Amino acid sequence: MSTLYDLDRDALAALLADEPPYRVDQVWRGLYERGVAVDGLTDVPRALRATLHDLAPPGLRAVTEATSPDGTVKWLFALRDGRTIETVLMHYPDRATVCVSTQAGCAMGCGFCATGQAGFERHLSPGEIVEQVVEARRRAAPRRLSNVVFMGMGEPLANYDAVWAAVERLHGAIGLSARHLTVSTVGIVPGIDRLAGEALPVNLAVSLHAANDELRDELVPINRRYPLAVLAEACRRYVERKNRRLSFEWALIDATNDRRRDAEELAAFARPLRAHVNLIPLNPTPGWPARGSSAGKVRAFADTLRTLGVNATVRQNRGTSIDAACGQLRASHGADTAGGTGVGVRPRPRS
Ligand code: SAH
Ligand code: SF4
Repeated sequence: MSTLYDLDRDALAALLADEPPYRVDQVWRGLYERGVAVDGLTDVPRALRATLHDLAPPGLRAVTEATSPDGTVKWLFALRDGRTIETVLMHYPDRATVCVSTQAGCAMGCGFCATGQAGFERHLSPGEIVEQVVEARRRAAPRRLSNVVFMGMGEPLANYDAVWAAVERLHGAIGLSARHLTVSTVGIVPGIDRLAGEALPVNLAVSLHAANDELRDELVPINRRYPLAVLAEACRRYVERKNRRLSFEWALIDATNDRRRDAEELAAFARPLRAHVNLIPLNPTPGWPARGSSAGKVRAFADTLRTLGVNATVRQNRGTSIDAACGQLRASHGADTAGGTGVGVRPRPRS
């Protein structure tokens, strides 16, 4: 059964075939432009709302909703089959950003990541991705939800078709600008090339974490398939074709990738691509014994990058008190993590 937000306009029209033709537009606008839930479609007869609910039910049910002192909201949503995913809403003074999941679990096996530790469960459908945005937009009001980052659980480019269908829906039906959508990837090169061929120019973020193959093989196992030189070429092609800013994510791990030498390697990698670097101290997870870098080391690392001609932003660790890092709420909730296939990768401090 399709969930409500998996229906495209034609499928909705088929579902409403016995209704007057204007209903399709009414329901579509209600769901996407006004962003109300089916119960909120008050201009539609109650019986029709009930039918919609039966034939195309919502795909998400909030299991928990936690708000941290900085206003960050984090949901644990149950999908219709009981699997769970996380969505995080971050407020800024004049707007809001939502971070959405694209898979239940993840098969990429990055050892420092709570989602990677739990392993892969299944892909999300386009509707399950879009519905996270719709929920967050409703919660963000009166702030405008302007940005969507595909940085929650899962690897977006390993679920390419669904992610791209969601991007098109967010752009076409909700009206979000492609320049406000950011796809984050662990570095799946064929996916980056496909993205470069799409008409909508979304932002690309690559989770780098190491700029030498030996360390990156360890931290991010997919590096063994798409090593740094190959990844750099794909990034270059993306930037050339899309003319969009590329960014690198770098989780600073104490005594592992936070020294001057690491910053120098990163600068040498990022500078030719004119990439922006986002630094975030590693969030500790139960399944990995390393710590995040101290505030002083984070500052020093950022300063080194800037001295070497690379733009770097230190990202706030938003919502730490509510486990608002990828996969952590779910891990601490103990929800539905059995049956995962993750491989544990342990860090080896570099000397
Ligand atoms: N799979 C995609 C998107 C989801 S992960 C990717 O890897 O890019 C989103 C971001 O969270 C990635 O940059 C990832 O490296 C980072 N991340 C995962 N676990 C983390 C942790 N424990 N502390 C800090 N960042 C983490
Ligand atoms: Fe998957 Fe991204 Fe976590 Fe790696 S960091 S395991 S790719 S979700």
